[in-house]
Amino acid sequence: MIEASLMQPLKEDRFRFACNKSLPCFTKCCAKLNLVLTPYDIIRLKNRLNCPSGYFLENHTTSFVDEAYGVPIVHLKMNDDETRRCPFVSPDGCTVYDDRPGACRIYPLARAASKVYESHRTGEYYFMVRESHCLGFCENREWTIHEWVNDQGFDKYNAMNDYFLDITAGRTAKSINTLTEQHLKMYYMACYSLDEFRRFIFESTFLKRFEIEQDVIRGIEADDVELMKFASRWLTFSLFGEKTITARNP
Ligand code: SF4
Ligand code: SF4
Repeated sequence: MIEASLMQPLKEDRFRFACNKSLPCFTKCCAKLNLVLTPYDIIRLKNRLNCPSGYFLENHTTSFVDEAYGVPIVHLKMNDDETRRCPFVSPDGCTVYDDRPGACRIYPLARAASKVYESHRTGEYYFMVRESHCLGFCENREWTIHEWVNDQGFDKYNAMNDYFLDITAGRTAKSINTLTEQHLKMYYMACYSLDEFRRFIFESTFLKRFEIEQDVIRGIEADDVELMKFASRWLTFSLFGEKTITARNP
């Protein structure tokens, strides 16, 4: 998460920025971060590292229930030494560049999104993150927000992350505060620990208890992104009682 004092509203759609290896600040931004990972970030990183989601979560993340959102949030663990550098940074830059988290892609912007519950319309707002060590603002390359989002491949991340807005967006603090310890464990598993969630679906009585479309079953068996989308449906049903899934008659 970014300190609020560093976030500046964008006065206009255009901004100047460029990042490259020749800058003296190169990779300085990849340390001492409270870097929140979304479910889609975790899919990209664990596949990049070719490891199961449980291994990735145990070795590379910490988690806690965020007071503002009332649900578990996952952070990338920085190296446990005085540098507190990101485990994926090298002198040549990011070693997971093509699969770097959304927050790294969109920097020096940050996105806040909200969903209007009744219409399911997403509203989004971009802020500029001004950190004193970052010299990218002194460069002359000019961007619009749209150009930057596309150039950094952030549009796909937006679409994926918005599945998770569906779960809690527009709900009152009161409804989220009624979530039990068991609900929060389910939220964590379905959002982040996808291999475990897949086992929960296929190795329990789940498919006997709920009517799930055959094409969805095939999708979630083979594809992490399809499983992630289904997790959003499942949590909306199991945590908030919406009719996104049908229970079979006992
Ligand atoms: S210009 Fe900014 S984003 Fe690029 S390496 Fe320097 S500090 Fe990091
Ligand atoms: S994931 Fe890559 S871009 Fe993001 S902080 Fe780590 S090294 Fe830097």
